[in-house]
Amino acid sequence: MYICSRFIMEIFDTIEGLQRHLAALRKTGSVGFVPTMGALHEGHLSLVRASASENTTTVVSIYVNPTQFNDKSDLERYPRDLTLDTKLLSGTGCSIIFAPTDIEMYPEPDTRKFDFGDLEKVMEGKHRPGHFNGVGQIVSKLFDAVLPDKAYFGLKDFQQLAVIKKLTLDQNYPIDIVPCPIAREEDGLAMSSRNTLLEESKRKAAPIIYKTLQKAIELASKSGIEDIKRYVFEVFKNNRELELEYFDIVDDNTLQPIQAFSLNSPATACIAVHAGKVRLIDNIQFNL
Ligand code: AMP
Repeated sequence: MYICSRFIMEIFDTIEGLQRHLAALRKTGSVGFVPTMGALHEGHLSLVRASASENTTTVVSIYVNPTQFNDKSDLERYPRDLTLDTKLLSGTGCSIIFAPTDIEMYPEPDTRKFDFGDLEKVMEGKHRPGHFNGVGQIVSKLFDAVLPDKAYFGLKDFQQLAVIKKLTLDQNYPIDIVPCPIAREEDGLAMSSRNTLLEESKRKAAPIIYKTLQKAIELASKSGIEDIKRYVFEVFKNNRELELEYFDIVDDNTLQPIQAFSLNSPATACIAVHAGKVRLIDNIQFNL
């Protein structure tokens, strides 16, 4: 148990302990759930606050899921600090932290293969083979453990949100998936646990990512998709700090790249950039 001046948070590292504690709470109210990999920042905390405002109990999981890392060194470098995360969560309305070990989540290797169809063939799915299968494995295990009424996910991971909506439908989870807005630093950089790993020069250069997305929105009123893409490629062509991995303008529902804007199909610009060893993603929606 973690006690600060105003709030009491229970911390569990086993599914059994978590479920026993949740059983009673479930009877008297709703359970909101925020899955995270820790190294919490204001983006995560905004999800927790959203859940706390809509549910009587909010569970936050903190678990760096190895099966969703296609790059082993990214997994090794991933920042971890449960003590600091616990402090950050106090005062947000989080009631329970679930911080399991690898053995607890994967007592045996998970051999399940998820099929997310075309949703996983583009962008993150294309550039990070196996990533969404790992996401499917851990999110389904966490959903089974927590059995929440609502689960909160950030639009920062736009494609992940679509994949999780499909997982929820396909597996018949009676869970309401709630998308939450992207939290940004003052200079516009989307908050991310990996930002702390950025070298100083790359951190200084990184706000160009969101600035370019904003410019893409501006251009959309007078330019076509190809012109916007050309503009974005030009911006990054001569950037010595950041290397563009992909920039796509996709249909919000299918996530497939579009050739032209249409008033009936909302679209989003998605970007991934390498800043040295750190990979950054961001997106922005077109309001046509
Ligand atoms: P992670 O710990 O990176 O797995 O993220 C856990 C949850 O927080 C996911 O639903 C993310 O989309 C969400 N999240 C991460 N960064 C942000 C952000 N800057 N704004 C809003 N949500 C975020």
